[in-house]
Amino acid sequence: MKILIVEDERKLAEVERDYLVAADYEVTILGNGAEVAPWLADNSVDLMVLDLMLPGKDGISICKTVRQTSNLPIIMTTARIEEVDRLLGLDLGADDYLCKPFSPRELVSRVRAVLRRSDPQMAADRGDTLIINPETFGVRFQAQQISLTSVEFRLLEELMKRPGVIFTRDRLMTAIYPDRRIVSDRTIDSHIKKLRKKLEVLSADREFVWSVYGAGYKYE
Ligand code: CA
Repeated sequence: MKILIVEDERKLAEVERDYLVAADYEVTILGNGAEVAPWLADNSVDLMVLDLMLPGKDGISICKTVRQTSNLPIIMTTARIEEVDRLLGLDLGADDYLCKPFSPRELVSRVRAVLRRSDPQMAADRGDTLIINPETFGVRFQAQQISLTSVEFRLLEELMKRPGVIFTRDRLMTAIYPDRRIVSDRTIDSHIKKLRKKLEVLSADREFVWSVYGAGYKYE
């Protein structure tokens, strides 16, 4: 698996690289944000570790640009813990956030976790994911099966596109009601509540859709 580290603190980037290489990843380092788009156009990569403050182009702009065309897993790193809340609020679609200083071991374990959950085939092979059928709005988990309403189904389908990523209510609303009908946050909450209730039938000890206090919802 190939990892791109975008980090302008050279020493830090090299430590990250050494640990990731030791964990059997192939690593490329870029120190300037403006280099990322041209590099991605010519190279394939499985995950990007993206610093927020960069010369050339900042991490937020890079993340937004990448998200327009790809689901490439992204772990954003930032020097300030308060930044993480702000980044979540911006709804960038990054897969995880790490606050500096973090241990390189922590980075390796986050990289592994993000890669594991972003690979639906791997989860399907383990029998460890929901199988959804867009033609019937049916959902299957191992031997159990349920049917959803179209709204519940679309909510679940949207969340499952990016496992582990927190979706704000706004983002879900835009995805579910593209005609921008006036719906309140509570509409989303009430559909999610019904969805979670139905999903309980599939497994007694597994939660699939999680509520993240003050932020939104995620599928895991
Ligand atoms: Ca930086």
